Amino acid sequence: MSFSLAERNDTIIALATPQGIGAIAVIRLSGAKAIELTNEVFYGKDLSKQDSHTIHFGTIRDEDKIIDEVLVSLFIAPKSFTKENVVEISTHGSSYIVNQVLKLFLKKGARLAKPGEFTQRAFLNGQFDLAQAEAVADLIHADSESSHEAALNQMRGGFSSEIQELREKLIHFASMIELELDFGEEDVEFASRTELKELVERLLRVVEELILSFDLGNVIKNGVPTVIAGKPNAGKSTLLNALLKEEKAIVSDIAGTTRDFIEDEININGVIFRFIDTAGLRETQDTIEAIGVSRTQEKMKTASLILYLFDLGDTDLIEINRDVNKLENLGVPFVKVANKTDKADPELVAKLKKEHPDSLFISAKNQENLEALRAKLIELVNLDKFKTGNTVVTNIRHYDGLIKTRDSLLDILKGLEDQVTNDFVAMDIRRSLHYLGEITGEITTDDLLANIFSKFCIGK
Ligand code: GDP
Repeated sequence: MSFSLAERNDTIIALATPQGIGAIAVIRLSGAKAIELTNEVFYGKDLSKQDSHTIHFGTIRDEDKIIDEVLVSLFIAPKSFTKENVVEISTHGSSYIVNQVLKLFLKKGARLAKPGEFTQRAFLNGQFDLAQAEAVADLIHADSESSHEAALNQMRGGFSSEIQELREKLIHFASMIELELDFGEEDVEFASRTELKELVERLLRVVEELILSFDLGNVIKNGVPTVIAGKPNAGKSTLLNALLKEEKAIVSDIAGTTRDFIEDEININGVIFRFIDTAGLRETQDTIEAIGVSRTQEKMKTASLILYLFDLGDTDLIEINRDVNKLENLGVPFVKVANKTDKADPELVAKLKKEHPDSLFISAKNQENLEALRAKLIELVNLDKFKTGNTVVTNIRHYDGLIKTRDSLLDILKGLEDQVTNDFVAMDIRRSLHYLGEITGEITTDDLLANIFSKFCIGK
């Protein structure tokens, strides 16, 4: 899907609020004729004579028939989201009314918007760059505090300004080197090789950091993949059910909450923990068996966090030490959780406290000390990394662009080291610039745009 120039001149319309019944529904129009078309069906005032950013009460009529009493908000170009004329019509929230209004406007010459078309127009008209446009989509889909924070930061240009700054410095060098090329045979050096090397190394550090932040970004966006491991009857499914049950209670306690309860996910301080491979667990079958079964090991490697659970009444220290050893070799952060405090062997507890002082003691069945467990989970994710306001990459396209940028920057360095000629250095710089530009949208192709905006919903 791509948009021709003619299509870009259309006046588009879509429902901006969710489908279904609500107190109000908002229908949005954007395009040169947005106000003109609305004026044709709106009774109450002459909208063409009103100021931008004003709201007007009246009726929408199809010939003589009143469809609804509405409020119309006007945003006159370029002072709007899309930088075009924008009208937002608030109707009563019934699908019937919404459909009647949409039909009426289609009859008058508006066109239904394609997915993401409002945001795409905003981008094409220079409202923001591509990374920010994508953040709009992320923001719409953000369902936890941390993903909301990351998207908001990106939408406001946190990510883009960092990239932009680097890119400008590199452009400066590129032009210096191109200048040297123009001088050809003459032995002039406008761009200091040492300075270029330093800049590229600095760039590399920032790019590397952004690449690393993607892991964290991914966690913010998609949740922390978490596994509960332990031998049969350790209490894994009881613990999972206890955590989920409390989560369910928390979710339904918050009046008017919009977050659906999602099976196998819990939200701790705004971070989502996603329990993987829990289907069998809940039916008390042992999909995740004793640690050491190779299939289980594979599963655990895909986790970002492991809850290692053992039964205080039915495990000895040798067994625990052996499991802990295996988990350490796996390299995935884990927490040692001693279950069934109610029937613990005091000797084992004493030994554990000595040898594994970081163990948590809980009773899954009696839901005891789960609060401490949740605190521990949050601690392990190391949230501080993005509380500092650092830029976090959450988008796979940006990640991919950053990887390509890194590789081309490494090529520049290698070229400088090998003392290749200017034209090769210039080529590698251009490549780096290209990839950086792709991230912010200074360099785009129709396919890329279409691909990005098609992921939006209609009306966005
Ligand atoms: P799984 O095989 O690891 O999933 O273990 P289950 O969750 O099925 O638990 C095995 C048994 O241990 C069940 O009978 C549970 O009721 C019991 N159990 C779980 N947690 C506790 C606890 O804290 N105290 C006691 N006494 N029993 C528990």
